[in-house]
Amino acid sequence: MARYTGPVCRLCRAEQKKLMLKGDRCKSDKCPINKKRPAPGKDPKARPGKRSDYGLQLREKQKLKRIYGMQEKQFSLFFDRALRMTGITGENLFVLLERRLDNVVYRLRFAVSRSQARQIVLHGHITVNGKGVNIPSYLVRPDDVIGIKEPSKNLVVVKEALKEFGKSGVMPWLQLDPDGMKGKFLAAPRRSDITDLADVKEQMIVELYSK
Ligand code: SF4
Repeated sequence: MARYTGPVCRLCRAEQKKLMLKGDRCKSDKCPINKKRPAPGKDPKARPGKRSDYGLQLREKQKLKRIYGMQEKQFSLFFDRALRMTGITGENLFVLLERRLDNVVYRLRFAVSRSQARQIVLHGHITVNGKGVNIPSYLVRPDDVIGIKEPSKNLVVVKEALKEFGKSGVMPWLQLDPDGMKGKFLAAPRRSDITDLADVKEQMIVELYSK
């Protein structure tokens, strides 16, 4: 299936949740979720219908997939990999998603959104342990150092993202050197560390794929 190229706020409205797909706009009053805009195609005056278990599980999967900017095929491959790992499948899935290079670039504040991070990776501005990597789904390992290539350190988007979001720090499994424009992936996070996605019910996604 082709990558979704329509208005991303529509995806948040469909889930009735802020998926934080647009960087600074998501924190502003312009966010349609703040304005309580209804889901696309829904009459705002209509009573909310009751969703089936399948419907709830599907929404949970769509939500997580959209947060990480993935397509169905790739997301299901990540799920298969999580299933084969030892431990709890839902938690394994989160660990794999967090290890994606585009996600790490976003989490290190080199980009204001995961989609912008994906572009930065695809355009070859990123190094892992000093070597160029341009694959957004590349899985980062503990102790890997992720940096901006020397000629790309003047990129306005990266500088502005670091200036805007760098002040708020990074997640506890990462270490950021803003002046050196590099950061370290210290260790794979535990599910409980991923506090900004605490409301995602990964068990429902496991149930959906187990059908
Ligand atoms: Fe989602 Fe951000 Fe658009 Fe708000 S502004 S609806 S959080 S993408």
